Amino acid sequence: MSFQNPVFIPGPTNLPESIRKACDMPTLDHRSPAFARIFKPAVEGVRRVLKMDAGEVILIPSTGTGGWEAAVSNTLSPGDTVLAARFGMFSHRWIDLCQRHGLNVQIIETPWGQGAPLAAIEAALKADKSIKAVLATHNETATGVKSDIAGIRRAMDAAGHGAMLMVDGVSSIGSMPFEFSAWGVDIAVAGSQKGFMLPAGLAILGISPKAISAMETATLPRTFFDFKDMLTSYARGGFPYTPPVGLIAGLAHAIELLESECLDNVYARHHRLAEGVRRAITAWGMTPYAATPDLYSDTVTAVKVPAGCDGTALVQLAASKYGVAFGVGLGEVAGKVFRIGHLGMLTDVMVLSGLATAEMCMADLGWPITLGSGVAAAQDYYRGTVPALAMAAE
Ligand SMILES: *Cc1c(COP(=O)(O)O)cnc(C)c1O
Repeated sequence: MSFQNPVFIPGPTNLPESIRKACDMPTLDHRSPAFARIFKPAVEGVRRVLKMDAGEVILIPSTGTGGWEAAVSNTLSPGDTVLAARFGMFSHRWIDLCQRHGLNVQIIETPWGQGAPLAAIEAALKADKSIKAVLATHNETATGVKSDIAGIRRAMDAAGHGAMLMVDGVSSIGSMPFEFSAWGVDIAVAGSQKGFMLPAGLAILGISPKAISAMETATLPRTFFDFKDMLTSYARGGFPYTPPVGLIAGLAHAIELLESECLDNVYARHHRLAEGVRRAITAWGMTPYAATPDLYSDTVTAVKVPAGCDGTALVQLAASKYGVAFGVGLGEVAGKVFRIGHLGMLTDVMVLSGLATAEMCMADLGWPITLGSGVAAAQDYYRGTVPALAMAAE
């Protein structure tokens, strides 16, 4: 088939045509002033999306995982203690990365489906003043759980603790409200291929003045990811090595798109799309894996499948029979959930097509649902909540 359906995975997300075009650039000398003209709007745009009053933006040819590595290796030293809650595959992988870097990770084991446990974080910080950083996964993409980053900052302040706050915002930034400065975030990590609607290939970070000063004494090795090399070159309008110019141009354009819709409208759109999905799964007699409504993610829903059903089988059938991508359950929830990504370039009408496809697969697999039930519930919700402002035309 030469036509392509939208994807419903939580990254990479659907690529708007105008972003694809913005990325498509002729070769350009990255040591020329032309590069600075492309680079600067991208960096300034990220600063606005993250809501940074101070600090610096760093763009690295990498992915979100590289962003984690950059955050850790630039600000910490071997043997340093960091605090992290583990409640899904992505929080787990960041912990694993820290351990492989020789850090001492104090892990708060938390049931999957829950978010960052604020009281336990506060207690751990009160008990150990040597903790150098608190790691938080803002949106756990494996379980569809959002955590309260402002609450973590309050817990840190209540403990009177001076640790850095490092936030994985890979599947939230650009789609859900994020407040770098107001939440006292020291490092925020994003990737190009989720809320920014770009191809994979850029790690996007915000770093606070405190993280910048931590760089001075941190001894973990870093070369490719060295923030200092980055900042030195940035100051001259350049890059320490060959930058992916097309992606950076695409990033500036992606931010133009987000801002032309208005960030608050982008967040409201994601909430509305997500709520329609939740209405649909309720109509199927299913529930989100996230334990309580305050934890529901607006970018991805992990749908708990009925006993005796296999979420992975649904994802495989959707791909092989209908050419539609959903996310499989990862790790502890493999088979127990399937995931519907609802972030990036999506409209209510597109989401309805995904829900309809999921229903066809469920019927094919003999799951106990009525065709159209979830779609109808989402339709009712979408009909009643059409925003006053239509999405900005491209
Ligand atoms: C996708 C994702 C990552 C990993 O990002 P890559 O770009 O695949 O390296 C990390 N954390 C979260 C929360 C994610 O959703």
